[in-house]
Formats: sequence, structure tokens, C-alpha cells
Amino acid sequence: MIRTSCTSFARRLPILNHIRSYRVLAIESSCDDSCIALLERTKPNQSPTIIDHAKKTLHSADVGGIMPTAAYNYHMATIANMCRVFCSKHGISATSPPDLICVTRGPGMAGSLSSSTEFAKGLSVAWNVPLVGVHHMLGHLLTSFLPQHLQQDGQAQPPQFPFLSLLCSGGHTLLVLLKSISEHEIIINVSDIAVGDSLDKCARELGMYGNMLGRELETFINNIPQSEKDEFEAMNVDTRVNNKYKFRLTLPYQTPKNGKFNDGEIQFAFAQFLSNIQEYKKKFYTSDSETSEFDEKTKRMIAYKTQELIFDHIIDRINLSLKKHGLRRQADGKFIGVRDFVCSGGVAANKRLREKLFCELRFNEIGDEPFKFHFPDLSLCTDNAIMIGLAGMEIFEKLKLKTDLSFTPLRKWPLNELTTVDSWVKISEEEINKVCKY
Ligand code: AMP
Ligand code: ZN
Repeated sequence: MIRTSCTSFARRLPILNHIRSYRVLAIESSCDDSCIALLERTKPNQSPTIIDHAKKTLHSADVGGIMPTAAYNYHMATIANMCRVFCSKHGISATSPPDLICVTRGPGMAGSLSSSTEFAKGLSVAWNVPLVGVHHMLGHLLTSFLPQHLQQDGQAQPPQFPFLSLLCSGGHTLLVLLKSISEHEIIINVSDIAVGDSLDKCARELGMYGNMLGRELETFINNIPQSEKDEFEAMNVDTRVNNKYKFRLTLPYQTPKNGKFNDGEIQFAFAQFLSNIQEYKKKFYTSDSETSEFDEKTKRMIAYKTQELIFDHIIDRINLSLKKHGLRRQADGKFIGVRDFVCSGGVAANKRLREKLFCELRFNEIGDEPFKFHFPDLSLCTDNAIMIGLAGMEIFEKLKLKTDLSFTPLRKWPLNELTTVDSWVKISEEEINKVCKY
């Protein structure tokens, strides 16, 4: 079928040359970003084309963090207008609607989520188009299935199931084994706060200001002269020897030197990195106005060491899981067949994290070939609607599910309960074919 409903002649010309595909409008507002995207797929099992995407972010730097009510009000004031402008730019209307609508159903802040879910339901009714309520983390985990040019520093080919995916964001830190689109096993969960939250709080404690403090911290560290970085690198935080700053830190749950592991869960923990800075400040910087703030070099040392140690902790935990689930004699073999490693979420934008993962995990314990790493483009690491559109398409086409309009947002939604929550509706082959006009 030829698309003829575009408003301008210029828009119509290239489209006349190819068979009508299916277009997906995606909306995301689980936290403080209002996002919208339009994707198109022309062949099954191919990466969709990203036609366009837009994002607006609530600025919370002045209030020291995201306030749920402010985020809700922000989305309520932003989403509808953003969508109106976006749809008119792409010729989307009641007479030329998209074929599928995808919206983040959870997890996230209830108010933030509801501003988009209710809006998407309205569009679904008005345009008579099916809707998929998408799991936000599935979106992050699948970003490596997006077009190759959007995969930075990584592999040209998408990952093959089963693969491991490390999600490092402001709200979550998980190592997940993905066996298929719908089968996810959480290998490492977080016992307190997420890695992005910890980086943000540590950066704030060091006096940094901004909306994405983890990124500010990375930039601050990148500007430290190499000679100083070498000095900090050589400094040992485990002992008092070779530690002239007396900055001490033991990694949370550090793997015992004998390499043995017990049967308990493997977990991440990131709250300790902030309390360590606070305790250090209390111990060495008195309330006396002259010494209550870190001097510039100490600030650089703490920033450098904290970021390094946070990433070392991530690697230490993953290494332990590779031992536990790999090929070793006492291991359970759960990871056998895993060749790909994906890193996603806002913190995955950090170059130092990418470098450390690549250098320290490449020669893993589960095979003779090194891991193939997948690092999505920086713009796809943080929240966006593109990943929600992609995950929604996969749910619709592969799992043959859509969401009933009675659904409500899910503030909490464990990833391994993707398809067991209420409101999923099985769709027929006929409906899939009607939507996916391949
Ligand atoms: P998300 O929750 O996936 O939207 O990601 C937001 C989180 O990623 C925030 O905690 C940011 O501070 C963090 N973040 C974004 N860019 C970077 C970066 N380059 N380095 C470290 N953390 C980052
Ligand atoms: Zn996210």
C-alpha cells in the first residue's frame, strides 16, 4: 500500500518509492524527561528506522533533586503540546495515524507515568490504534537492537540471545541475563541506591551543580591533569600505607581473596560511597570556616577515587557472577552460550566505565572467545522514547501482546514479571498483519 496521506509534496516523493511499512509513535515520561519518537519498520526482524525524536527535561538543579509533584506538573504541561508539534511535523493526524502507540507503563514515578499513559490512551481511542504499555527497563536493555550507526564503540551486529545486559541508570542497577524478549533473569540486583543516584549524590557533596551530576563528575575528572591522575591511581585506599590523604574505602561485599563464593545472592550497593565522603569530611574538615570545605586537590582526589571505586565495585560483582555461573567446577553453567555483553542506561554514557568493562571483563570465564561489547550511542543511554518504541514493537510482533485500555501505571514492575501483570491482551495473527504491513 502506498502512503498518500502526507501533507506536503516534498514529504510524499521518497515515500512513493517503497512499500508502506508500519509506523510507531512512542511516548516516555517515567521520570523527569518528556520524550516522544516516531519509528518505522519495513521488514520483520530488522532494526527500525528512527524518523525523529524529541526530548524536554525538567530542570531540578536548584532544588537539589527531582521532586515527583514538579515532574508530574512538568509532564502535564509539556507532553500534549510536544506531541501536537511533533505530529504536525510528521503529518500524523486522525486521517493519517501511526499504526501502533507505545507508552511507558512503568516502573517510574506514578504521576510522571500517568501523564503519558492517559494521554496515550486518548490517542489510541481517537485514532483507533492499538496501544502497548512498555516496561521502561526493557527499553534500556534492548537499545543495542537499534541501527548500527547508533552503536558507539561496539559491535556492528545486534546481540544474540542469550546475552548479558548491565543496566546502569539513575533509578536502577541490574545485571540481567536475557534469554529472549520476555525471559529475563536478574543476576545482580542493588541492595540500596542505584549507581546513577550515588554518582549524583557524591558529585553534589563535592559541590557540583547541574541536572546530570554523574556527567558533571565525569567532565570534572577528565579535566584533572594526567600527572595528578597517576598520583591518585597509585594511592592505596585499602591501607594507611601509600595513602597520604588518609582516604579509606573497602568495596561493598568485596570478593574474598580466595575467590570462593557462597550461595547467597550477589548484590550491588552504592550508598556507602556517599557516606564515605561525608565521614571523611567530618573527620578531617572541621566546622571552622577556613577548613570546612575540601581544598581543590583533595576534591579532585575524592572525585577521581570515588568514580574509580564505584566502577571497580560493578566489575568486582560481575566477575563474581561470571565465576558463579560460568564453566568453573563449582559453577552452575547458567551463562553457557553467552557471547554478548550490553551496557545501557544513563551511566553507560561514561567513557571510563566503558573502558573498564571492556578491559577487565573482555576475557571472561565462560568461553574461549572474548565478549562482544555493545555500547549504545550516548543519546540513547539516557531516557528516550526511541527505546520504548522499539521494545513496544518487539512485544507486539514477537510476544503478540497489546495492552487493554483499563491499564494503570506501575510504579514498581519487576522485570521478570513483564508479561504476568494485568491488562495484557493476546492479539491474533490477523491483527498483527493489519498493523505490520510488511
Ligand atoms: P537514566 O536514569 O537512565 O535517565 O540516567 C540518568 C543517570 O545517568 C543520572 O544519574 C546521571 O547522572 C547519569 N549519567 C548521565 N551521563 C553520565 C555520565 N557521562 N557519567 C556518569 N553518569 C552519567
Ligand atoms: Zn531510565
